[in-house]
Amino acid sequence: MSEHVSPSSTPHGLHIITWGCQMNVYDSARMADVLRPLGYAPVDRPENADMIILNTCHIREKAAEKVFSELGRLRKITEERKETTGKSTFLAVAGCVAQAEGKEILARAPYVDLVLGPQTYHRLPEMVARVARAGGGVIDTDFPVEAKFDFLPEEAAPQTSANLTAFLTIQEGCDKFCSFCVVPYTRGAETSRPVSSVLDEAKRLVESGVKEITLLGQNVNAYHGTWEGRSVTLAELADKLRSIHGLERLRYMTSHPRDMEETLIEAHRDNPIFMPFLHLPVQSGSDRILKAMNRGHTADEYRNIITRLRQARPDIALSSDFIVGHPGETDEDFEATMQLVKDVTFACTYSFKYSARPGTPAAGQPFQVPEDVKDRRLARLQALLREQQDAFNASLLGTVQDILVSSTGRKPGQVMGRSPYLQPVHFEGDPSLIGRVVKVRITTQRTNSLGGVLCEEALAV
Ligand code: SAM
Ligand code: SF4
Repeated sequence: MSEHVSPSSTPHGLHIITWGCQMNVYDSARMADVLRPLGYAPVDRPENADMIILNTCHIREKAAEKVFSELGRLRKITEERKETTGKSTFLAVAGCVAQAEGKEILARAPYVDLVLGPQTYHRLPEMVARVARAGGGVIDTDFPVEAKFDFLPEEAAPQTSANLTAFLTIQEGCDKFCSFCVVPYTRGAETSRPVSSVLDEAKRLVESGVKEITLLGQNVNAYHGTWEGRSVTLAELADKLRSIHGLERLRYMTSHPRDMEETLIEAHRDNPIFMPFLHLPVQSGSDRILKAMNRGHTADEYRNIITRLRQARPDIALSSDFIVGHPGETDEDFEATMQLVKDVTFACTYSFKYSARPGTPAAGQPFQVPEDVKDRRLARLQALLREQQDAFNASLLGTVQDILVSSTGRKPGQVMGRSPYLQPVHFEGDPSLIGRVVKVRITTQRTNSLGGVLCEEALAV
């Protein structure tokens, strides 16, 4: 494998397959950054890659089986490449399944060269060299004392279309230990990046053309990075980001209701770059189940946060995560979830059937809910949530929205952009609008997008 280790004038093909959350999308982009100085450049197909990285997610059921089946497919591709071109392919598994099942992966798939956890990808070049020396089969899934962000190269490349929007990880790990969740075990303890490191990366992104940044973290509103020797909250960090000239939109995810402090709620009123859209998972509307989940708040405390957010920012729309069928959930508990949804009303949501994750407290609890009951509850919940999403989209008809134009549209003469609520909006317009925030009157509603008309006279700068 030494052929891939040292810097080279001939680029090596790098193919990264990313599953799971935005944090994995971000991690994949940073792994590409780390490997760039070694001569690795992205290629679209695994068939053409000198290195393939499978960046995995462990959050739901059958995560490990899915990884082994994908590895089987990749193995065939790399063997065929070896036969036809004589070139070997370096195969790495990264992310949360790698963290949780590192030894199992090397035992069951010995053709894998490297297994690395989410906290160690800054050490990729060193590990690639170690594989070369060891001849394959290296695991690096420690939670190292050094912060990986201090070791990442500076040339962060924006990760999304037209380079206008980017993710930026500011916080990792979780100490909350919800009964159902693997994150505290796969991502480790909660840590925040220092403010200066976040500001530096944000400035570089904006200089490269980014207009909208989404700050990422497993519990992003628990952020407590340091600045001049003291701890800084997410609201304060957002205030500092606001002074970066050219940064027009700011979002953050995923938040926890327990960390939704008053100063952050006020920042939704006072910080003009905060978009009026917040993902705030509640999981359940039953106090009994919230307690069993170890969420640390009640349904009414959640309702109260939403009321205060709406007072601070009347146009704010909410998104959330729900789990149905957590162990012990009765019909009455489920009805409490339905009631909470009716009380709050959501613009967009993610809802899941509870799936037992080995090693988590809920997995060992009695009173597991039968699959058919979970199915019925999920169908009812999703029907209600879909109704609310349609109603929210319909409520925008006739309104004027600021749209960040990102690309040409599906039809000739059209362009496409995102509303403050992240809906795709298509409208007639010149490609020169790409990169600008413009005012668009919303005129049509489709299942997953909106259509509109450019307000020519009122182009927002
Ligand atoms: N930190 C966030 C929070 O506290 O809400 C959530 C992060 S988790 C990566 C994303 C979502 O996956 C959760 O909000 C939850 O709805 C879902 N999830 C996590 N573990 C699950 C499980 N065992 N079964 C079903 N859904 C699960
Ligand atoms: Fe998982 Fe979120 Fe709970 Fe942490 S707060 S354990 S990441 S669900």
